[in-house]
Amino acid sequence: MTKKMLIAGNWKMNGSLAANEALVKALVAGAAAPACEIAVCVPAPYLAQVQSLVAGSPIALGAQDVSTQAQGAFTGEQSAVMLREFGVRYAIVGHSERRQYHGETDEVVAAKTAAALANGITPIVCVGETLAQREAGATEEVVKRQLAAVIHVNGHCISEIVVAYEPVWAIGTGKTATPEQAQAVHAVLRAQLHHAASDHAAGIRILYGGSMNAANAAELLAQADIDGGLIGGASLKAADFLQIIAAAR
Ligand code: PEP
Repeated sequence: MTKKMLIAGNWKMNGSLAANEALVKALVAGAAAPACEIAVCVPAPYLAQVQSLVAGSPIALGAQDVSTQAQGAFTGEQSAVMLREFGVRYAIVGHSERRQYHGETDEVVAAKTAAALANGITPIVCVGETLAQREAGATEEVVKRQLAAVIHVNGHCISEIVVAYEPVWAIGTGKTATPEQAQAVHAVLRAQLHHAASDHAAGIRILYGGSMNAANAAELLAQADIDGGLIGGASLKAADFLQIIAAAR
C-alpha cells in the first residue's frame, strides 16, 4: 500500500506573526525529508503568512474550517474558493469545538465536506464521542452516525476524504485514548468506509487526535488502522511536533 501517514497540526486560535514565523521555520528546517505527509491548519488571518513560510517545503497548508457556501452574505465565513487562493490543501471540518460552540450538525459537516471536495481541498472530517456517550456505551453509534452523514452526501468521492477520530474527552485534556481504545474505533470506521467504498477503504487515512504528543505518538501510530494524527497542543511546539513527525513512518 502506498498510503503515507498524515501528521496535521491544528493550531486552533493560537499564534502571532512572530510566533508563527519561528514555529514554521523550525518545522521546515527539521522536516526536510519526512516519511509522512505534514500539514499545519492555521487561523484564517495567518494563511497568507504561512503560505509563504511553507513554500517549497514538504509542509502543506490547512484551514480549520470552511463555509458550506461559495460566496455571498455569510459574514465571518471563508469559502473553499478563497482558501484555494492561498494554496490551502486541507481543511478540518466538524471539529468537536465547532460542533460544540457553533452548533454544527452532522448535516452541516457533510455540506462543508462537499464544499471542500468540490474545490480540490481535502477535508479532514472529525468524529468523536463525548465522555458521557462513551460511558453510556454509545461510542460506536455516535461515530458511525457522524461519518454516515458525510458518506450520505459525499459517497461518490469518499475515497478523497481524511477521517480524524477525536474522542472529545481526550482533546486538550492530557487524557489520551489507549492505543487499543483508539484502534477499536478506527476499525469500526474502516469497516464503515469499506461498506461505502470497498475498493478504496484501505487507502483512506484515519487519523487519531486527542492529546497525542511526542511521548505517546509512536504507540498510537503503530496501530493497524491509525494512519496519522491530528495534533492540537503539541503542534505548537516545534520540537514536539517534529518528534511526532519522526514517529510517523
Ligand atoms: C485537536 O484540537 O484536534 C486536538 C487533538 O487537540 P489536542 O492535541 O490538544 O488534544
